[in-house]
Amino acid sequence: MTHTSSQERPDFDAMRDWRRHIHQNPELGFEEHLTSTYVAERLESFGLSVTRGLGGTGVVAQIAVGDPDKGPRLALRADMDALPMQEHTGLPYASRVAGKMHACGHDGHTAMLLGGADLIARRVRSGQIKGNGTVTFIFQPAEEVGGSDGGAQRMIAEGLFDKFPTDEVYGIHNGPTEEEGRMYFREGPFMCSSDKLEIVIRGASSHGATPHLAKDASLAMASTIMALHSVVSQNVPPLETAIFNVGQVSAGTVFNIIPSEARITACIRVFNPETATLVHRRIKEVVSAQAQAFGCTGEVIVDYGYPSVVNEAQTLAAAAATATRLFGTDRVVTDAARVTASEDFAFYLKHCSGSFFLIGNGDNGYRDGKPIGPCSVHSPYFDFNDNNLTVGAEFWAGLVEDKFQQGVTT
Ligand SMILES: [Zn+2]
Ligand SMILES: [Zn+2]
Repeated sequence: MTHTSSQERPDFDAMRDWRRHIHQNPELGFEEHLTSTYVAERLESFGLSVTRGLGGTGVVAQIAVGDPDKGPRLALRADMDALPMQEHTGLPYASRVAGKMHACGHDGHTAMLLGGADLIARRVRSGQIKGNGTVTFIFQPAEEVGGSDGGAQRMIAEGLFDKFPTDEVYGIHNGPTEEEGRMYFREGPFMCSSDKLEIVIRGASSHGATPHLAKDASLAMASTIMALHSVVSQNVPPLETAIFNVGQVSAGTVFNIIPSEARITACIRVFNPETATLVHRRIKEVVSAQAQAFGCTGEVIVDYGYPSVVNEAQTLAAAAATATRLFGTDRVVTDAARVTASEDFAFYLKHCSGSFFLIGNGDNGYRDGKPIGPCSVHSPYFDFNDNNLTVGAEFWAGLVEDKFQQGVTT
């Protein structure tokens, strides 16, 4: 028998200490050795069984309640990697590692899920979380790596869902510049896919004095870039979203030799996979025709990266209902704006149902130790908002409580 006054609460001081410790000691994708050890030790101290080294530096813990066969198998996910950039917040707990920084808030996501695991373990022991089911806590490496070999893909390839069968997976990212402590949900396509293109144009070299003997790859490249920017405007229906950008160009070695080869790297982002198919096809056609117009050949090599994050309706509604129960309708947005950035959480959704959502990070930028207002992620002035640690931990525990009470989902 439990009493409301004995309700287990999130341990804010501990979570803030964990978050700031991880923030001071950032590690890049697949190098999260100290971070994953730190995470595993905390999870073990909560009395959970812990698996280390899945997908390189990934850590997984699990807890079962009641009759696990009669309840849902849930997975809650956080990411642990930092970015290769110099921190300029000037905060007392700023990065101690030159050129590495937790500028996307993954330190906060990790501390929030650790706090959630601690709270869930305590509430299970005290009988406040009842019913049936299993929770798997996923701490993944290398979300920021991009391309086709990120942390989520490696954990899945190394048997994440075989070893820890999962019906539904959930993830939280901080929402930079959004209202502090508010949760943002959106059904369906929520975040863009991201594919990397490498375009190679091949012609023929010549002395700069004899251009009639060359097939100038640099000229074909320049024309190709101009034409590629027409692909979205001339092919994608205006109400659909597709984003094309050129990120790198290179050609030639010296001023008086006409280059025989030119390279362009570019990126395509979309919400709907059909749009990606259309844009990829048109890009290949444009590159080929443009190169040919200058006597060159064009090749497009595609590195299919993160798919779009598409939130499944029932899991999204359940998560929003839990947030509303805990925090009230004022702090829950159910028609959040879509996000054009990408997330490798999308790979989990290829294997099971689930949803991904945000907690507003508020005005949490700092420069030289002083607040500078709203700040985007991947900025040297970004800091995760510690006030959200309690929100996140309460949410994770509340979601598990609600799901275990409801029993098996179909
Ligand atoms: Zn990021
Ligand atoms: Zn991130």
